[in-house]
Amino acid sequence: MKIFTAGVLTETNTFSPIPTGLGAYEGEYLMRGDVNPDDRHGYEVPVNVWKRMAAERGWTLVQGLHAASQPSAATVRRVWESFRDEILDGLARAMPVDMVLLRLHGAMVADGYDDCEGDLLERARALVGPDVPIGAELDPHGHLTARMVENATALVIYKEYPHTDFAERARELFDIIADTALGKVRPHMAVHDCRMIEMFFTTLEPMRGFVARMKSLEGHDRVLSISANHGFPWADVPELGTKMLVVTDDAPEVGAELAARLGRELVAMRGKTRVAALPIEEALAAAAAAPPGPVVLADVADNAGGGAPSDSTSVLRALVERGVRDATIGMIWDPGAVALAHEAGVGARLRMRIGGKVDPLGPGPIDLDVEVTGLARDQRVAYAGVRIGVGDMAALECDGIAIVLNSRRTQTRSLDCFTAVGIDPRARRLVVVKSFNHFRAAFDPIAAATLYVAAPGTLDPDFTRIPYRRIPRPIWPLDPDPWS
Ligand SMILES: [Zn+2]
Repeated sequence: MKIFTAGVLTETNTFSPIPTGLGAYEGEYLMRGDVNPDDRHGYEVPVNVWKRMAAERGWTLVQGLHAASQPSAATVRRVWESFRDEILDGLARAMPVDMVLLRLHGAMVADGYDDCEGDLLERARALVGPDVPIGAELDPHGHLTARMVENATALVIYKEYPHTDFAERARELFDIIADTALGKVRPHMAVHDCRMIEMFFTTLEPMRGFVARMKSLEGHDRVLSISANHGFPWADVPELGTKMLVVTDDAPEVGAELAARLGRELVAMRGKTRVAALPIEEALAAAAAAPPGPVVLADVADNAGGGAPSDSTSVLRALVERGVRDATIGMIWDPGAVALAHEAGVGARLRMRIGGKVDPLGPGPIDLDVEVTGLARDQRVAYAGVRIGVGDMAALECDGIAIVLNSRRTQTRSLDCFTAVGIDPRARRLVVVKSFNHFRAAFDPIAAATLYVAAPGTLDPDFTRIPYRRIPRPIWPLDPDPWS
C-alpha cells in the first residue's frame, strides 16, 4: 500500500488587517519532504501519527508539501496556487497511490478562492480518479463546503475546542481511509446545515455531553465517524455556518437522519454553548467582585488564533486608567517594542510606546513608563503536548501591571506565555489573556474565576455586528428563525 500525504493549514479571517503572503507560512511552518519526527511543531502531530500507522503495517508513506500560517486575512493568490500546484505535482509523481491523507483547516480563503480546501480536493480527485480514497483531517472552525464533501471520501473534524484531539482524529481518519482502500468499508458522508453562527466550548456543558454523545454513537449501526463543524464566524463566505457531518459505511439514510437529529440538538443549544463576553467596565467590576485567587479575563476580540493582531490596547488602557494593580496582560504582539526592551536590558526604566500598531479598531498605542523585568529569545511554549513558537519576549512592569510582549503573533494559551519571562500568573489577582477559548486547558486549573471581555477587536463576539455581505441567509442570530 502506498499513501500520499500533504497539507495546507490556515484559518482565514476575511476581516483581519493582516495579509497572508509567503512570509506568513515561512515564518510559521513550511516543510518539504520528511516532517520532523519529534512533533516539535503541533502541525506535525497528525502526519507523524500517519507515518507510524503506515510503518506498523509495512506500508509506504510519501510526504508532499506541508504548510501552515497563523490565522490572518486571505492568502495571496499566487501563494495559494503555488502551494496547491506543488501538492498536486507531488501527488502526480507519487502515483499510483492507494490512499491520500490531507491535513487541512476548512476555513482557508485566498484571493479569488472562497474555498481553498474544496479547490484542492477537487483537483486531487480529478488526478487520482473516483476509486482512490481521499481523507482530510479538519478543524471544526471551517465551512465544510459542498465541494469538499463531494470530492473527499471521508472528512474527520477535531471534536474538542480547545483542540486537544488532533492525534486521535488522525488515527480515526487513517483507519477509515485504510479500510476503504482495503475494500472493508464504503464511506458515505451526510451533512446537515444548522443554519446558525455560534461558538461551541467543548470543555463546558452542554457541549461536553454532546461530544460524549457523538463518540458513543460511533462504531454502531454502520456509523463510522461523527463530526460537528462548529463553523468560523469571522469569514464573509457563501457557505459559512454550523453543520453536522456523519460518515457511515454506505448507509446514506442512517447518516442523514442522524446528522439532522444531532443538528437539531445543536440548534436547541444555541446561545448556551459559550460564555457571554462582557463590556470592559462590567468585566473589570465582575473581576473585582470574584472570589480570592487569580481571575482570568479573556480578551476574545483580539485573539491572534482567529486572525486578530493581538496588539489592541483596549484592555491594557482600561487597567491603567482605573489604576488596577496586581495584574498581568499577555501576549501583546509588538516586535518593535520587544526589540527596544532587549536593547535596553533587564532593569532598564524607559518610556515605551506599546501595542496598537496594527489593530484598526482599538484606541491605538499606549505610552507608558515601564521597567524591563524579563527577557527571553526565541521561546516555545507548551500546548497539547507540542511546543509552539512565540518568538522573542519581554516583560514590562508598570505600576503593578506586568505587560508581556512577544515578537511572533500567537495566541496566549499556556502559562509559559507569562512564566518564560518571569511572570507567575498564579500570583496575580488579574490575568488578561488574548485568546478566545484555547487558554482554558492551561488556565482553568489556576483560575478562581474566568471571565470573557468584549473589547473592540477583529473577532467581535457579537455576530450581529459583523459586516457580512455574502453569507447564506437566513441564518441565526442575524435572522431569528431560519428553520421554519
Ligand atoms: Zn479551530
